Amino acid sequence: MNRRAFFLCNLSCPRRCIYCDQEAITGEIHIPEPREVESAIEQLKEAVEICYFGGSFTCLSLAKQQAYLDIISKAPPGSQVRFSTHPLCFDKKVFSLLGNYPVSMIELGVSSLEDHVLDTCRRGYSGKEVLEVISLLLKKDFRVGVQVMIGLPGQTIESSLDDLEKLERVTGGKEITLRIYPCLVLKGTQLERMLVKGTYKPLSVQKAAEWAGIMIKKAQDLGFPVQRVGLQETASLSSSIVAGPHHPALGELARSEALVLVLLDLSAKGPWQIPSRQRSLLFGHNRYGLKILSESTGVCLEDIEKNILFC
Ligand code: SF4
Repeated sequence: MNRRAFFLCNLSCPRRCIYCDQEAITGEIHIPEPREVESAIEQLKEAVEICYFGGSFTCLSLAKQQAYLDIISKAPPGSQVRFSTHPLCFDKKVFSLLGNYPVSMIELGVSSLEDHVLDTCRRGYSGKEVLEVISLLLKKDFRVGVQVMIGLPGQTIESSLDDLEKLERVTGGKEITLRIYPCLVLKGTQLERMLVKGTYKPLSVQKAAEWAGIMIKKAQDLGFPVQRVGLQETASLSSSIVAGPHHPALGELARSEALVLVLLDLSAKGPWQIPSRQRSLLFGHNRYGLKILSESTGVCLEDIEKNILFC
């Protein structure tokens, strides 16, 4: 289904998280009113997924949420609505409102499940609270997307893996979709001030790819699809980044790291058989995946290459 995204930048966020500036991330300054969304949607001929991103949708007043949701009635038959929101903004009234609409997915900005990381980032909830919300959403049969971050202040690879296990325990066998966002330092944010003071050290591109790769492998083992790694590239984002693992192909590099981990699980030195469609994960980006495989096994690049068979 086609998707139309509307950015409600930082609209109704209960607080400003230390790393966030949605205008810089999306490049959108104007927040569309419901009537503007409606005029963009009503001309469409095919079913569409209307997406409200960049803010805390369920923290809006019920009347405003309803105004944005009602637009679905003007969209072609079969259309759905998806939004991102803050985990604390759910109550009986919100659930009763959402029950009237074809909600395809609720994306929760979770960041981390570690309380000290959440406190530092000014998220405003505990790990336990967000797990309760996820469990409730799944019990109410909503499809849930969980946005986690890596490289936050005080966060470690081990704590990220622990977060995935905690998530797995509350899903009760239901699927959740993950988006993994490496923490970037944007101009004018609290995180930039921490960087200047020396109290925050961002990840390198290499470290972020490795961390995200380990997460992807773990997510695969737990049965969670990973929908995306890294933010969507925009001119505004590029010009707002002060520091951090910004790379247009970070998602690919992370998937290369994950594939190498899978191969090493299968055999310590190869040979390995991989589907041709995964070729670029080893040979792309100047043989990024092959080089990691070579470093991890201690086998020279030339011999490693001979040990890769395509099927
Ligand atoms: S990270 Fe999410 S909740 Fe925090 S300020 Fe940004 S949009 Fe709002």
